[in-house]
Amino acid sequence: NIYNFSVFPISISILTVLLPGKCIKLTPIIYWQPVTCLKVPSEFRITGQIPKTVFRIHQISTMSGIPKPCGIGFIGLGIMGRGMVARLLTQTSAGTSDTPLVVWNRTVSKCEDLVAAYPNATITIASSPREVVSQCIFTYSMLSTPEVAREVFEAKEGTLAGIREGVAVIDCATLAESDMVRMAKAVKEKGGRFLEAPVSGSKGPAEGGTLIFLCAGDRTVFEDPVVTSGLSAMGKASHFHNEMVGYGTRAKLVVNSLMGTMMAAYSEGLALSEAVGLDCGKMIEIIGQGAISSPMYALKGPKMVAGNHSPNFPLKHAHKDMVLAKDMANNARVEYSVMNQAETLFKSARDNQTLAEDDFSAVHEIIKKKK
Ligand code: NAP
Repeated sequence: NIYNFSVFPISISILTVLLPGKCIKLTPIIYWQPVTCLKVPSEFRITGQIPKTVFRIHQISTMSGIPKPCGIGFIGLGIMGRGMVARLLTQTSAGTSDTPLVVWNRTVSKCEDLVAAYPNATITIASSPREVVSQCIFTYSMLSTPEVAREVFEAKEGTLAGIREGVAVIDCATLAESDMVRMAKAVKEKGGRFLEAPVSGSKGPAEGGTLIFLCAGDRTVFEDPVVTSGLSAMGKASHFHNEMVGYGTRAKLVVNSLMGTMMAAYSEGLALSEAVGLDCGKMIEIIGQGAISSPMYALKGPKMVAGNHSPNFPLKHAHKDMVLAKDMANNARVEYSVMNQAETLFKSARDNQTLAEDDFSAVHEIIKKKK
């Protein structure tokens, strides 16, 4: 049972009528459309005769007639990206023959490690970000800094070069609002769609699928079932702030400036405890029992006392975010003195090359030294 459709959007109506009656055995529906398949939902949920049955829609290449599936892309397999991709592979249809996962990372060995870790998944290692985007409907990007994000986005073989009508970029990194706005504008000018989706949560939540997505931009991307299932696989909550790109980043910077300030204050509390002869382990327990308890304190406290700062959230990135938040606060003309002081402490740690690569809890080493 193969149906060919060439007239869109009428074909969609035809499909919804035909599918419940005819395609009971999950027969693929093959359709043809002159330009792209991008406006066709990748899944049809049938609510008539066969409730909840999912039918995949494949694309036929106009040139060769060979089915060319639409992939899900991921650019940047760092600390966060690696965990997020694993969730997409294990919890969604990404990485199946219908929906290959297409990845790119500067250090190719990280892509190869991913392929080795999921031998049954269909994963394509792309030679450039452009190649990822040109093979995918939705591409997630998770790069480190504004400078890196810009370089990868604007390069000759970069993300922007692969944008065509209808495709979407979902940028999950913590960048400046102006970076997100600039990328969104460039993507839109080429007919693409852009969703900013920075995340709250670190390496553990990325691996465990409990991130919190702070989104803004194209609502059709946010509400697309493929994206909804992706965000649900990677996160425990997804918030859509505004159709105006920038609001996701604003929310993310508020969260991270508060996180840095809390970490600096906690570190001072632990250093003070030690200096006045208190048992730090006992103090961690006491803090955890009261109203000021925090999952972050409970997680980081024992490691900080032991001097273990193996990176979940590198200090250099935490400092980057505090500087971005400082700029945002200056522009908004609000009081920022407490966070400003915390940023200064993080800067001292950032200036030390070893601490910069360590977890952001390594600010404790600077605070202990000052004692
Ligand atoms: P990361 O481990 O440092 O990796 C980020 C990615 O950037 C890697 O794929 C890395 O490639 C790539 N990259 C770095 N320099 C590059 C360059 N010059 N050209 C091309 N690619 C380059 O960072 P992360 O911890 O995953 O964080 C990613 C983003 O999420 C950051 O914006 C961070 O602030 C944000 N974030 C992090 C956390 C966290 O806890 N870690 C939590 C929330 C948000 P290579 O593999 O080749 O180095």
